[in-house]
Amino acid sequence: MRFQSRTAGISTPARLRPDRDALRVSACPACGSLFWKNCGRLPELRQTFGGLPVEVTLESGDLLHCSECDMYFREPYVSQSVLNGLYARLPATVWACDNPRPYWPQVLELMLRYSPNRTVMDVGCFSGSFLEWLPGSWRKLGIEPSAAARTIARDKGFWVCGSLDELVELSEHVGVMVLCDVLEHVVNPVAMLSILAGKLSPGGSLIVLTGATDTVPWRLFGCDYWYCSLPEHVSFLSRRWFQWAAIKLGMSIRWVRYLSSEPTSTAEWSRGLVRATAYTLARRLIRKGVSPGVVNKVPLLGRAARWTSPPWWRAAKDHVLIVLSTT
Ligand SMILES: [Zn+2]
Repeated sequence: MRFQSRTAGISTPARLRPDRDALRVSACPACGSLFWKNCGRLPELRQTFGGLPVEVTLESGDLLHCSECDMYFREPYVSQSVLNGLYARLPATVWACDNPRPYWPQVLELMLRYSPNRTVMDVGCFSGSFLEWLPGSWRKLGIEPSAAARTIARDKGFWVCGSLDELVELSEHVGVMVLCDVLEHVVNPVAMLSILAGKLSPGGSLIVLTGATDTVPWRLFGCDYWYCSLPEHVSFLSRRWFQWAAIKLGMSIRWVRYLSSEPTSTAEWSRGLVRATAYTLARRLIRKGVSPGVVNKVPLLGRAARWTSPPWWRAAKDHVLIVLSTT
């Protein structure tokens, strides 16, 4: 997947704020708009990628919000080509999936409803666990940048290529493409969707699961939210963004639902909310100039202030599952 560096070719300054934006010149990677708002510094990164140490330096950057297309994005950050290199080298163990994910049955139901044929492509299929889980009546294809994971998926009998560029080798058209936990990893998500849509059969669909910035957790925690603290996550979308993208792509939104990618007990959900609230509050107080010594004296906030990264809240209803179809 090769896309243009997000700062390439931009010669007009964006709405610069001398206190925070220095002389940086940025445009929204999706729509090219120069009208964005800086939502604040993202949490420091642990210099790992896919949970493994990396040689390149990963600066967390700020969270910017484009008022034109509604995308939030990490900026400045490493380019898509650097990210591609990091994904290509990931071992097959990083995102191995031994058990079906909770949303897979819902995705299959949508595939059956919105695919004009029984050919599916899993974009970011890793070692092919989802394809393996699907009924045998489907023809199964995939895209996977990790060479090690791709080899495993191919050994399972699936047609799998390593990048969007290699899609030209595919002679057939696909009824439905599934992108679960993929678009947040891509610098220019609409460019990726455009290339994929070009390989769809007439009436074909894209099924996307990703974090949704128009959900309550995102609105509460913003740049302190765990989902945007992961070094692999660079783009953050919403229903409004998908409406914008659908027009660009000549597609229509057929189905939308907000959900948790890992639903769990109410107790676990509540624990996640308390931890995320304490972390965000501590960080915001310190940013506003309250002495860390004072924050440390408050029982729960003091502990949260010492956390080096946001606590994960996987049970939160912070994802969107959406279907776009060609018209
Ligand atoms: Zn934009």
